[in-house]
Amino acid sequence: MTKPRIAIVGMAIESSAYAAHRAGYRDFPVLTGEALIRRYAFLSDGAPLAEAAEWIPVFMARAIPGGAVLREVYDDFKERIVSGLRGAGPVDGVYFDIHGAMSVVGLDDAEGDLVTAVRSVVGPDAIITAPMDLHGNMSETLALALDLPTCYRLAPHEDAWETKERAAHRLVEWIRRGEKPLTAWVRVPILLPGEKTSTRVEPARSLYAQLDEVEQREGVSDLGLWIGYAWADEPRCHATVMVTGDDEAVIVAEAERIAGEVWDARDDFAFVGPPGSLDDAVANALAHDGARPYLISDSGDNPGAGGSGDVTWTLERLLADPRLTGDDAPVTYAASIFDAGAVEQLFAHAVGDAVDVTAGARVDHRVAGPVRIRGELLSLHSGDPAAGRIAVIRVGGIRAIVTEFRKAFHDVADFHAIGLDPTEADIVVTKIGYLEPTLYDVAQGWTLALTPGPVDQDLERLGHSRIGRPMYPYDQFETRPDLSAAVLRGREYVRGFAGAHEGSATR
Ligand SMILES: [Zn+2]
Repeated sequence: MTKPRIAIVGMAIESSAYAAHRAGYRDFPVLTGEALIRRYAFLSDGAPLAEAAEWIPVFMARAIPGGAVLREVYDDFKERIVSGLRGAGPVDGVYFDIHGAMSVVGLDDAEGDLVTAVRSVVGPDAIITAPMDLHGNMSETLALALDLPTCYRLAPHEDAWETKERAAHRLVEWIRRGEKPLTAWVRVPILLPGEKTSTRVEPARSLYAQLDEVEQREGVSDLGLWIGYAWADEPRCHATVMVTGDDEAVIVAEAERIAGEVWDARDDFAFVGPPGSLDDAVANALAHDGARPYLISDSGDNPGAGGSGDVTWTLERLLADPRLTGDDAPVTYAASIFDAGAVEQLFAHAVGDAVDVTAGARVDHRVAGPVRIRGELLSLHSGDPAAGRIAVIRVGGIRAIVTEFRKAFHDVADFHAIGLDPTEADIVVTKIGYLEPTLYDVAQGWTLALTPGPVDQDLERLGHSRIGRPMYPYDQFETRPDLSAAVLRGREYVRGFAGAHEGSATR
């Protein structure tokens, strides 16, 4: 048979509807042509998957998490995807590379809207796969448009590329079979932050670990457990289990079993790290004796989950703490806030100068205003691909990091790049939730500080109003929810739609 033709399209961001940040062109590096193919190591020259199909790179835009996407940017990218697909001619499959928790200003269910546009070009017979983040949300529209949905099985997402490669394999396999898989689909009315569902700890560890085994079962092709994304306020926000394959009885049984286990474990989900207030975190860090550094997650403005990245609430408190600002205070890295104007001012100085600058909260000032930083300019750095220019200011023991543009300091390499070594700090405060691998490895103590901000871990403080109800943990459940599976093949319901949790999207 001739090689299947597979188009690659996508738009990926995780966006908090509670962030003042708006994602625009600068946030979205765009890949097309050969550069898009090179994004996927499994499509490199000579790789079996590269040979198995004709991969047609159309358009991919991917941003680090942030706030909602500007409508005109989304509309432009969608148009480029649609016109690119038209130009590509008939395809057998689409590799739809999305995250699943994109918010767009003035639009509900952004991925549902985008996949509808894709489907309208490629027609009903093309097989569409979507390797998603497990923090994505599955709407009915998206579920009906995808043939091969799947998602990561680890949080942090150390299996991201493995998942993307698996999705590519399954897509080629099903195109070669010349038929569409069946999907068993269960909605689970539960909405939790990622910091309570990390696979580093139970119960998520076991719930997710079993998926690899289930995938090996006869009749199962792939499966995913989307724990969902809590920092948006749409009917599609909830957990989802989907199992694809060709044996209806098996995929239904597995989907319902896994959904039931998630539900039964609902009271066991707890923060992955020891949580506390910022005051608790600083007290713990100061009292910590032994190896350094002590890590403090400033979780409320974690850009990795959709925080704006310029919330000053935490830095303001650190700078006001005499235990941290004395000349012999412990060395405390404070990462980071962005403020292009403040960086402009700082770059007018020489390293070593005394500086006095007001920074941050230009975008997101809902929990704190701009913060005044008076200290010694420790260093200046240019050319960071995300952050642009960076200045580090010493205030007693504190090393306050101010960037020109939004950046997450989630890797020890981010600190090394500006001459800071986390293993030489006493305390590292950074805008993060659960610790990403390299910081996790160096941390000798840790508090997950439950700070306020756009990705507040205290979900009830955010006040959702549009999610389906009842929803755990917001509501009391008198009886167990209906966790029976619907079965889809392509856009058709093979077996009745069971759960009406999504309200506005009921059939
Ligand atoms: Zn995620």
